[in-house]
Amino acid sequence: MNAYALLDALNTPVWIILPATDDILFANRQALALASRQTVADLRGGCLSARAQEKLADFTPSMLQHEQVVEIWTVQGQDEAQAMGCHLGHLLLDDGRNAILVEGMLAASTTPLSHALPASSPRDGSFHEMLMQTNSAPMLLIDPADEGRIVNVNQAAIRFYGYSRSEFTDKHTWEINAMGRAILPVMQHIAQLPGGHKPLSFVHRLADGSLRDVQTYAGPVVIHGKRLMLCVIHDITEQKRLKSELEQAALKDPLTGLWNRRHLLLQLERSIQEKQRFGNDFSLILLDADNFKHINDHYGHFTGDEVLVWLAKTLESRVRAVDSVCRWGGEEFVILLPQTSRDNALHLAEALRQTVAQTRHDKLPAITVSIGVAIHQDQETVESLIMRVDSALYQAKNQGRNCVIAA
Ligand code: GH3
Ligand code: MG
Ligand code: MG
Repeated sequence: MNAYALLDALNTPVWIILPATDDILFANRQALALASRQTVADLRGGCLSARAQEKLADFTPSMLQHEQVVEIWTVQGQDEAQAMGCHLGHLLLDDGRNAILVEGMLAASTTPLSHALPASSPRDGSFHEMLMQTNSAPMLLIDPADEGRIVNVNQAAIRFYGYSRSEFTDKHTWEINAMGRAILPVMQHIAQLPGGHKPLSFVHRLADGSLRDVQTYAGPVVIHGKRLMLCVIHDITEQKRLKSELEQAALKDPLTGLWNRRHLLLQLERSIQEKQRFGNDFSLILLDADNFKHINDHYGHFTGDEVLVWLAKTLESRVRAVDSVCRWGGEEFVILLPQTSRDNALHLAEALRQTVAQTRHDKLPAITVSIGVAIHQDQETVESLIMRVDSALYQAKNQGRNCVIAA
């Protein structure tokens, strides 16, 4: 019997996921009935999804500290998508690997909001007013039972969003959330959460129409006997931009602006997964400048750099938008060609070789390149594919350079 078969007896959907790879190790009967065709990326990145971290693995430290981690996932039904609140917890597997146990909460209406309320809810309106107005973080008090109508806001929210108090209290959360009315089922799920969990990420629209990335900390409160939700808003637009710039920089080659080897290796792994899933063939071109040492020795390293930049631009201008050109190292370049047969890759390689060889350079001899081409074979690893394309290039060099050889 499967070690997790007991989980099939539960009424709630349960997944066990390996955060290192996003592989689903186990899904119980309910989970399969709901989303047997969806991957973790589909569930976490769907149109109704909301999460605190990009990667599941980033939750591990907080989970080990027993912090509450929740996400909203998108379950794709036959006709429409549905939001589902999930609790995430750490699970140590018998073999020592870290896993994440995800438990979905099915219908939004199954848990009355009162169950989720903290025992010490402030019931005094003036206390909440003071709490909101003295806080420098934008705060919205919303009524989940009334389509997320905004009941009250603080000064910081008025400043941040650019609406006056009266304009604000005419609005609903779905009017400031970029998801629009699709936020309503998501909000219902958040309203049931006990609070104190990690903040969820959304995109909010300001009065001037601009969009900001925000994290919202939402928790249930009772004010004047009414069950409401207090949302504290944290603007992370700048943080996100810097993070994505840094991530991009880590994947780019500074001299040519092409992708670097690290990015290409990630792309190759992804291409293999996609081939396993959808059967898409892909090919690889490995291109090396001929006698490049000679250019450096006779014309200087700086001129050598200029030739590399020219070569990079030439390659990029000749490939499709879906192809990835990467500086593999030194004077070597790799081009990943998705959905490309061996013949088509060979054809492109020959065209690239000719373009390079036919271009005349001021005060420089003709630049030529040798090229190896290979198509990914079923079950082949990244290492083996690279070895094959590398030995094709080696043959091209041996056959006198300025030529193309396919593995
Ligand atoms: P082959 O035809 O066999 O490839 O000969 P080669 O001279 O191109 O090959 P080799 O591996 O002997 O030399 C590569 C040269 O590329 C040596 C190295 O200085 C130069 N190179 C590597 N990276 C850079 C760079 O960023 N800028 C410049 N200017 N030269 C570089
Ligand atoms: Mg080389
Ligand atoms: Mg070379």
